Amino acid sequence: MEDPADAYTTASADTTASADTTASADTTASAIAPRVPLAVHDLMAALATAGHDAYVVGGSLRDVVLGRAPEDWDLTTDAPPDRMREILPDAAYENRFGTVVVPRDGLLYEITTYRSESGYADHRRPDEVAFGSTLDEDLARRDFTMNAMAWGRSAAAARESLDPELVDPFGGLADIRAGIVRAVGDPVARFGEDALRMPRAIRFSAVLGFTIEPATLAAIAGRAADVRLLSGERVGGEMGRILVAPSPSVGLRLADSTGLLEPLLPEVTAQHGVPQAKIDGEDLWDHSLRTVDAVRGDLALRYAALLHDVGKPAVMADGRFIHHDVVGARVADTILDRMRVERAIRERVVRLVRHHMFSYEMTWSDAAIRRFLRRVGVDLVDDLIALRVADDVGSGLPPDGPRTTDLRRRCDEQLAARVPLGRRDLAIDGDDLIAELGLQPGPLVGRILDRLTDKVVDEPRLNERRGLLATARAMVRSTEDR
Ligand code: ATP
Ligand code: MG
Repeated sequence: MEDPADAYTTASADTTASADTTASADTTASAIAPRVPLAVHDLMAALATAGHDAYVVGGSLRDVVLGRAPEDWDLTTDAPPDRMREILPDAAYENRFGTVVVPRDGLLYEITTYRSESGYADHRRPDEVAFGSTLDEDLARRDFTMNAMAWGRSAAAARESLDPELVDPFGGLADIRAGIVRAVGDPVARFGEDALRMPRAIRFSAVLGFTIEPATLAAIAGRAADVRLLSGERVGGEMGRILVAPSPSVGLRLADSTGLLEPLLPEVTAQHGVPQAKIDGEDLWDHSLRTVDAVRGDLALRYAALLHDVGKPAVMADGRFIHHDVVGARVADTILDRMRVERAIRERVVRLVRHHMFSYEMTWSDAAIRRFLRRVGVDLVDDLIALRVADDVGSGLPPDGPRTTDLRRRCDEQLAARVPLGRRDLAIDGDDLIAELGLQPGPLVGRILDRLTDKVVDEPRLNERRGLLATARAMVRSTEDR
């Protein structure tokens, strides 16, 4: 028989793929049970048998209620970490805050002892985390009402074989139904404790399509400057989530209007008021947001779309933006480094910003297409064209302009012909030059290989060993003559 746990996994994957923000919220406690995977039921049963409370809590419960697939499963219990390790021998300590992780079916489940937090002197982490608190205290420390619910049973309820219940002291269910992000308790105080809750509010609003409740929104506007104290890594995490939302501009505009964006990305807010002769009445900021909404692709492409013109404010002179691609690539590098964005993504974004100004004409020869592929790198071409399509849309042009379509076709044609496009496609390598020409390893070898590559990119039929060695010999002689 099919394992019913598989059914959950498959259903979950589908929910993620559709990135559906309007998933129906069936919100009765009994509707939750079948959406909780067997592994979680088992963990809850193990805790109950050992005489402890066990609840699904936080973001995973919110997602279950929303009909979305949780990224991970979080449980909470009154059992302290050492006790959990007795009950679940394969549990491992995750951190000093009382979280243990349990592996099941290739996934990790986090179980955290009830805790309360106090004293947030630096606006970003509690000075003290106390165990021995209650479920209600644990829920009260959480950020938003939708994240402050629990589903499960106390030890006493389990002894009486009662059904699991939904514990919702702050009206999270009603807020989920109404599509509202609302701070638990006094928003000004809660954002004062941990400034990350402000970008989190905006991220949830952007990703779920929720509105931020007025007092919560006002508190963000009032405390926005505190986000300067956050680590780049935590901010970068939230920014990434905003950028991969269905319409990143919604979150970015909200972050901007509340004053949150300026301290985080001053290079981007500097685009306000920079004129663009693209869409009537719109400036560079509007253009960047239209571009990031239009781009189809992963986080790197979305950052590239947001930042492709980030060099413009600095170089603007007489209505022109000379070398804004070169300057913009440097600015993008600084921003992504500051936000501790993964190196591979950062490097890709920098290259995309650097090369986004290519200007293809249908009169280009095939050799010009090959030189283009070599210059930008074969691995970047698809993304670069996707960025151009989005840049066009952001400029009020259609996405399928004849030049972009033609460029894509002609690049594909060259790639299909498997013509040499880089050093590693050459019929010889550095070892050949050293062995056949008696060269010493060193920069000259690299320079010769580069010049040979230029030649075969222009004229692919020159890519054969004897001819290339002869050309290399001639190159060496001409350097010696000088
Ligand atoms: P997602 O996993 O989709 O990013 P999440 O809400 O699960 O969203 P996590 O960072 O996994 O976010 O946190 C799990 C839970 O811990 C949250 O749902 C919330 O209850 C609580 N939490 C997380 N960060 C904070 C915070 N900065 N302040 C208060 N509570 C928080
Ligand atoms: Mg989570």
